[in-house]
Formats: sequence, structure tokens, C-alpha cells
Amino acid sequence: MTQLATKLIHDDDKDNRVSDVAPPINVSTTFRYDNNDLIPWNEREDLDFMERRPIYSRLAHPNATRLESIFSDILDGHAIIYNSGVSAFYAAVVFFKPKRLFIGQSYHGCRAAANIITRTNGMEQYPLEDIAQYAQEGDLIHLETPVNPYGTSFDINKIAQLAHSKGARLIVDSTFAPPPLQNVWEFSCDIVMHSATKYFGGHSDLLSGVIVVKDPQVAKQLREDRIYLGTNIASLESYLLLRSLRTFEMRILKQSQTATKIVKFLNENRSRYNKVLDKLYHSSLQSEPFVRKQLKGGYGPVFSLSLKTKEQCKQFPLKLKYFHHATSLGGIESLVEWRAMTDPYIDQTLIRVSVGCEDPNDLIEDLKNALQNLQDS
Ligand SMILES: *Cc1c(COP(=O)(O)O)cnc(C)c1O
Repeated sequence: MTQLATKLIHDDDKDNRVSDVAPPINVSTTFRYDNNDLIPWNEREDLDFMERRPIYSRLAHPNATRLESIFSDILDGHAIIYNSGVSAFYAAVVFFKPKRLFIGQSYHGCRAAANIITRTNGMEQYPLEDIAQYAQEGDLIHLETPVNPYGTSFDINKIAQLAHSKGARLIVDSTFAPPPLQNVWEFSCDIVMHSATKYFGGHSDLLSGVIVVKDPQVAKQLREDRIYLGTNIASLESYLLLRSLRTFEMRILKQSQTATKIVKFLNENRSRYNKVLDKLYHSSLQSEPFVRKQLKGGYGPVFSLSLKTKEQCKQFPLKLKYFHHATSLGGIESLVEWRAMTDPYIDQTLIRVSVGCEDPNDLIEDLKNALQNLQDS
């Protein structure tokens, strides 16, 4: 069977329209019609034709089609690509139109998108703890695991069983641990989403999101809806994302290993930094058996720590040489973020760490110096 690294480089060979080895950057919004194929829109049986022969880039364009070939294969379903992770989430909620959405700790942008639907359509929202009591046929459960900003895991199978016993569907946001780290389908969820802005993009220079479903009819409708939600990925971004995918496996595996090594170091040396370091959160520190089963290919590259004081949270990023103080995650450059800067609901002393592709020992040295500096001050 063809392996991930090969798929990332060759799944879209069949979509190549030119002899160029690297995909050309297409920025055209419109494409000439084929004079030998002048079939009016209302006589078309399905919309696949526009992927073979692009018409207008809001509908489909060559590099987005290439991306969907790769994502459909590596994410094992029908992949629909969007111009951001939030618009991928929004498209799923619009399509499934649940009366009730059950949503727990998760990316604040997805919660805000759900609030728009609540405001416009009256969709009710409940925490995940209320599934057993209130979920009904057709409702939607949104689970993010590993979860932002902590990097800790929830038991997918447990929530899937509960959701299905109520006739509800489960969507899993697997942004923090894309395959080969975690394959969500093994735990019987119904829809998978990723913010491709993060690990798939990997260079902090593009926005994109992807929804994956198993049912071809659902995929077809989502693709048609996307035309009129106006949320297809942009042309230049799709080129950038294609380029990123070629090296995705190397990056994510390195980031996963480095993060696990850093968390191990911090955990084993907590007492050295007892005036600074309060709590440490990461899936590698969880002992429940489901965690290892879900994260078969390695732990996610994001973890969090809380410091003793807010003042230390302001100082900590200033003491670091290699970690930029910025939001987002998943890029080749390591980042730290005092989460209070962007998340209004979060613990005020929480620092999120996104591990990049630098040398692991350089990163550990950097963190050691910053923590020691605060410990001694
Ligand atoms: C970033 C992120 C999103 C939103 O993605 P955008 O591409 O920024 O719209 C959704 N879920 C998670 C877990 C994220 O980290």
C-alpha cells in the first residue's frame, strides 16, 4: 500500500494539466469554456465537470482540486477544502442544521461561529456533559481533541457511542493531531475537520480548513453549498498549501517528537522551577489508556503550562530567544502565547506552546534559561 509520504507528493499527479513538475500558480478567476463541450448548467447531471474543466474560481480551481485529491486520500474520505478552519466548521453546521449543538472546551473561533447560527437560527447550545440528558435525533456534537489550548485528549469513542445512542452525529476537530498522529475514523465519528492553517500549512503563511465525510452525497452537497457560501480556498493559498503538504509528514513527526521531549524535560524538572512553573498540560502526561490508542502515531506538538503569576506570563516570552510571542500554532517556527491575549475565557496565567522544527536541544536550552531567569528574579 502506498504510504503517507508518497501520497503527499504524488496523489495529485493525475490532476496535473501541464508538464511542469511543480504546480503552476493559477490566479485566474475565470477560465475559457471548452468549445467542444458546450452543455448548459441546467443540463449537467453532476458538478464534477468543473473540477476537470474549471469555470470560475469560486466554484473550483486547479490547485484546490489537487488539494482535494490529496486530502481525500490521506484523510480517508471525501474532503472538501475551505478558505479557513472556521468556515469549514461553519459549513458543517449549516449543512447538518442541528436543533442542538453540544460543544465543550474548543477553539474560540468555532464557538463564536456557532453563536452566529444561534443568533440567526435559534440553534441551542449545550456543554458536552449534557449529551446524555438532552441530545436528540439529528443533533450535532462537536469534539476537539487534543484540545486547544491545553493539548490534552478526550475519549472520542466514549462520546461517539453516547452521541450515536441518541441519534446525534459527532464531528471531531483533529487540528491538533492530524494523521499520522491520530486517525479519528477508528473511533466511529461521523465528520472530521481540520484547520489546515496549522500543521498542513505549517509555515504560518496561509489560511485553510478541510471537512471530511464518508457519504459521497453529503460531500456533493457540501461542495455545492461552498459555491454560495463563497468559502472556497483562494488560488494563491492553494498553491502554498500544496507546497506545504509535500513536507507535511517530516514536519509533524519531528514536531511531535520534540514536543514530547520538551514536556518530559519540564515534567522531570518541575522542582527546579518551583517559583515559576505551576501546571503542565499535554496528552503525554495523561495516563488513561484511550490516550495512547488515539495518538498512535505520536503526541500533538502543542502543550500548555501555567505560571505562578500574571506578571511572570508577561516576562516569560521576553526571556525566550527562539520562541516568538504570537498566537496560532503548527508552523515550523516555535511559538509561545500568553493565552489571555486572545482568549477572553481562559485561565489568566496560561502559556500555550507550539513546538516548531528547530533543534529540540536548542528549544529546551531556551526554555531552561527563561524559567531559570524568572526563578532567580
Ligand atoms: C485555528 C483553529 C481553528 C480555526 O481555523 P482557522 O484556519 O484559523 O479559521 C479551528 N480549530 C482549531 C483546533 C484551531 O486550532
